[in-house]
Amino acid sequence: MNISCLCNAVQIRISAEPIAQFWCHCADCQSVHGAAYVAESIYPATGVEIVSGETTRFALKRTPRISCARCSTRLLVELPEIEMRAVNGYLLKDLFKPALHIHCSEAAAPVKDGLPHFATKPAAFGGDDRMVDW
Ligand SMILES: [Zn+2]
Ligand SMILES: [Zn+2]
Repeated sequence: MNISCLCNAVQIRISAEPIAQFWCHCADCQSVHGAAYVAESIYPATGVEIVSGETTRFALKRTPRISCARCSTRLLVELPEIEMRAVNGYLLKDLFKPALHIHCSEAAAPVKDGLPHFATKPAAFGGDDRMVDW
């Protein structure tokens, strides 16, 4: 499957199934996206490839993020410590099917829906499985 940034300058090929899709409420995502929370879909790093277009790389705190050099669409987050890449779920349109919320302890506001709300992350992703009360 190929996806692109909003100006179509950058093309990205996704050749793996997502490991997880979720809403992230971390302070880093909030600042970089200018949003209360963001859509993320994570894949094995080898399953996500930038095939064309110029990109820029920027880390606000610790997480390197890759954007289109022309339209600034947020494209990817690099997660080298776990050999994964997170794709901006917004670019997946109907294929973004979030199953959980993470980093809810940093949330700007509660988002009440039927999904699990992890305070940090699931233990399977290096978190502690704690939940928040909303
Ligand atoms: Zn672009
Ligand atoms: Zn985040």
